[in-house]
Amino acid sequence: MALMFIDGVPVAARSGAERPIIDPATEEPIETVPVAGAEDVDAAVQAAQRAFADWSHRDADDRAHILRAGVERVRAELPSLAALLCHEQGKPVAEASGELSHFLHGVEFYIDLASKIRGSYTALPSSLGPAYGMVIKRPIGVCAAIVPYNFPITLLGTKIGPALAAGNTVVAKPAETTPLTTLRIAELFAAAGLPPGVFNVVTGSGPVAGEALVSHPAVRRVAFTGGTETGRRVMALAGPRFKRVSLELGGSDPVIVCPDADLDAAVKGVVIGRFFNAGQACLAAKRVYVFAEIYDQFVEQLVARVRRYELGPGWTKAARPNVRMGPLNAPAVRDTLSAQLADATARGARVLCGGGVPPEPERGFYFAPTVVADAPHDSRLVQEEVFGPILPVFRVASLDEAIRLANDSAYGLGSSIWTSNVKWIHRAAHELDAGMTWVNQLHYGYDELPFGGLKDSGIGREHGPEAIEYYLETKSVVVGGLGE
Ligand code: NDP
Repeated sequence: MALMFIDGVPVAARSGAERPIIDPATEEPIETVPVAGAEDVDAAVQAAQRAFADWSHRDADDRAHILRAGVERVRAELPSLAALLCHEQGKPVAEASGELSHFLHGVEFYIDLASKIRGSYTALPSSLGPAYGMVIKRPIGVCAAIVPYNFPITLLGTKIGPALAAGNTVVAKPAETTPLTTLRIAELFAAAGLPPGVFNVVTGSGPVAGEALVSHPAVRRVAFTGGTETGRRVMALAGPRFKRVSLELGGSDPVIVCPDADLDAAVKGVVIGRFFNAGQACLAAKRVYVFAEIYDQFVEQLVARVRRYELGPGWTKAARPNVRMGPLNAPAVRDTLSAQLADATARGARVLCGGGVPPEPERGFYFAPTVVADAPHDSRLVQEEVFGPILPVFRVASLDEAIRLANDSAYGLGSSIWTSNVKWIHRAAHELDAGMTWVNQLHYGYDELPFGGLKDSGIGREHGPEAIEYYLETKSVVVGGLGE
């Protein structure tokens, strides 16, 4: 059994409860993990609280040095961690390696910032005697990091990187189905010298361990990535204690392809943007609006490319020139996709390729990459988040129509436009209701820029130097008594 990581040591749940972790490509159990109760979460939070006193007072360079040693341990184990991530999550090994590299890059970004956190100084009016003011930035305390199953390691990094570099301590709760790589990473950081209690991991369910963590009075900051409905619940639990919350939630990113677009680049960008990670990405390209004059050509190239995906276990390679797509993480994801697709086709949508659960491979939670035309804009396939490999494509007559339909969504995470027309780029940048707009670029989260949603896609930002502010509190100090 893989164990939780609390106060620097591997531990079982106090109740003794455990659950299997299933390989989504084979449907076979590969490991078991403890199922934490509220008492285990409390132990982890208390350990983090004890560790905060020392960690928060350390020299920033000292913290950075230890975190860098942790990063090096992870780098040295990257191939075996990628294999583990592939088996618990379902993604191909190459994508798992990329995710781990992204984790390392993201954490290093904040390690580099550890010694660059600044407050300020200001002279004050002398009416009450000579005085000056300082604005001090200091770490907040125990931070909760709640992570979904789609990018378990990247999204762990976006939380522990700024939290630990700024001097906070962390209790992480990975998704129920994908805790194994996270547990190993916690062990590696501990082996690299991270003091006990600074980074703890509890495994368990959202409704029990997740809620106990969000509600715990000693947790001051909650960084959550997951579905919009879960985000509402997290906000409701954290609200009464005024915890500092960031919510990175679902998305339904629109893509606008204009008549002057580099068609080849746009098709490639859309295909990777939609079908990477078997479509289980918050910032996936989820709806495509193509100008009528290039629609047929775009769709033809799109379908030809999507047909190159070959389903199979993530540790095997596709026959060239095909591209490997792994299974979905869990059967429930597949069931939701099937229902969303059925709703659209019952209302006139046409399946251009793919179309549901394939006959092969027989075992595993696979879903054929699917392209759909003529989906009604009020169908589930368009209005809900589609968290898997289905892509609806729409024909539009103008940029006005494209922007209107793009904004016809409860979500506002990412968006993109493919054009060289500077006026259209300007309009897309200002008029698309999304936290991010990519221009002639596939949807991809950069570590250097703040990333997050508008509307039902959440509040707060991860990535970029800005994100470290969410892990610091601001305190003002007035220094007087300076007279003779
Ligand atoms: P969920 O919301 O189901 O779960 C996310 C995490 O929250 C899991 O660790 C889960 O635990 C936990 N959780 C569930 N219920 C509660 C609760 N009541 N209290 C506290 N924690 C809880 O999301 P999914 O795992 O299904 O992830 C997919 C979603 O994440 C998609 O909507 C996707 O768009 C979004 N996402 C957003 C990103 C962004 O940056 N905006 C990035 C990546 C994904 P458990 O697994 O045990 O249920």
